[in-house]
Amino acid sequence: PTASATNPPLMIGDLLDSGVRMAGDNQIVYRDQSRHDYRRFRQRVHQLAHLLSAQGVKAGDVVAVLDWDSHRYLECFFAIPMLGAVLHTVNVRLAPEQIHYTMEHAEDAFVLVHEDFVPLMAPLAIKLPMVKGYLLCREQNQIDESAAAQSGLDVVGEYEALLAEQPLEYDFPTFDENAVATLFYTTGTTGNPKGVFFTHRQLVLHTLGEASLFQAPGFALLDRDKVYMPITPMFHVHAWGVPYTATLMGATQVYPGRYEPEMLVNLLLKEKVDFSHCVPTLLNMVVSADAIASGQVDLSGWKVLVGGSALTQSLASKARELGIDTRSAYGMSETCPLLTADILPSDIDKADFETQLPWRCKAGLPVPLVTLQVVDESGEPLPHDGRSVGEVRVKAPWLTQAYYKEEKRSEELWRDGWLHTGDVASLDERGFLTISDRIKDVIKTGGEWLSSLELENYISRCPGIAEVAVIGIKDEKWGERPAALVVANDLNNPPEADQVQAFLQTFVDQGKLNRWAIPAFIRFVDEIPKTSVGKLDKKRIRQEV
Ligand code: ADP
Repeated sequence: PTASATNPPLMIGDLLDSGVRMAGDNQIVYRDQSRHDYRRFRQRVHQLAHLLSAQGVKAGDVVAVLDWDSHRYLECFFAIPMLGAVLHTVNVRLAPEQIHYTMEHAEDAFVLVHEDFVPLMAPLAIKLPMVKGYLLCREQNQIDESAAAQSGLDVVGEYEALLAEQPLEYDFPTFDENAVATLFYTTGTTGNPKGVFFTHRQLVLHTLGEASLFQAPGFALLDRDKVYMPITPMFHVHAWGVPYTATLMGATQVYPGRYEPEMLVNLLLKEKVDFSHCVPTLLNMVVSADAIASGQVDLSGWKVLVGGSALTQSLASKARELGIDTRSAYGMSETCPLLTADILPSDIDKADFETQLPWRCKAGLPVPLVTLQVVDESGEPLPHDGRSVGEVRVKAPWLTQAYYKEEKRSEELWRDGWLHTGDVASLDERGFLTISDRIKDVIKTGGEWLSSLELENYISRCPGIAEVAVIGIKDEKWGERPAALVVANDLNNPPEADQVQAFLQTFVDQGKLNRWAIPAFIRFVDEIPKTSVGKLDKKRIRQEV
């Protein structure tokens, strides 16, 4: 039966009500600038809905947001979809022409823009005639009234000023749970960025699935008494949906604005943050910050969910030495994103850290409601032997049903009723998933598949090495051979390439690595190219090598 008065639809607004009921006094914090409780958070969501309606935003309209991670953004996560409109979280780190592409493709009707992005937005605005108006977001300490006025943007007013004029209650409609709530674009390593979209029903179910993971054995990441701060941008897969989950649970939420290492560390300490999530690069940046590495600052007890790229054993160990507990999860933009996490088998969960370490760095077990297979080229599921590798395909009630307005790419994504992830992996006897590569990044050498992630993991354990990226380069004899770009801990005093090779030889001697996996080409660099969300940018790395 479809949703009806007696069978209510799943609505994002219900997540907000849950948090307010359970934890009305808990706080929503924005940098060192503002804080208010959940009751006020709810009022502000209702006021934002009034504000947007007054500006002519109606059900079905797409509303774009260009802001740093903030309490305002959290309000948009709720108010925009609760009106029946679609929240477009714009990836502000894309190139301006790609931002223009996504905003035109999404047919954005109204835009919330932080003052910092006005210089970016202003030249694009003339090419976006369907935008009815721009609402300006401004920091308390930004008093330059003239910049936006002079930009030529059709600014309808400033967020806080207009919000203050609105009534505190909005009579939100109830509508079809299959209405689209959010839309955003993948970073698109090839071709134009691809739009993915999620409905109220999907986001509610994803939130409940994520909440159950956060309570899984050994996790205890989040509840009403914990403090949460995202370090995955809110434009990137709704910060992995965690703001919705934190709200459902009534946790205290701290939004760090623009990611500046000093501010992040200050907030972690001052607000006593219990839980964050980020890509490995960002965790590496935090644990390598001078004050932390030298022990002046104590981050022990901080739990970090790492995803977006594989967590290496060396990074997990380094974090552990500082008392930071890491967990890993796997997913992608197309999957909302949560698919799997390192929910350890009971015996491993009780074992010491060294025994747990390799397990903690795998993608792990599918979370509730996710069905996952690893299949060969003909679509046959492979044995759970920890060795057979194939493509990961999934089903779950929160996967994007298509790429927005992209029929051909959508057909490729969804074949035989499964969403194809484009990731290569194996499953072991206990159902644990290990991602070994993306299909397009696998190195085919001497007729064998070599996992670039596995090799990166081994190289990262070599003393003196801070970061590494491995790609395949053409080779007449082998087809392809691995090549490594490496950043040394001490840039002025990097190890020699043959030291790295000798280190890898020890794994060859132990039978863990094939002889041909040792890269002949190892180049030390100051920095490895990264994508807009901080992952190794293998496309650019290939161009540079
Ligand atoms: P982009 O395609 O821009 O990198 P996504 O965030 O959608 O954006 O990236 C998803 C991809 O990241 C996955 O398909 C997978 O290749 C990789 N990934 C995510 N989590 C993990 C993980 N825990 N281990 C290894 N790879 C991961």
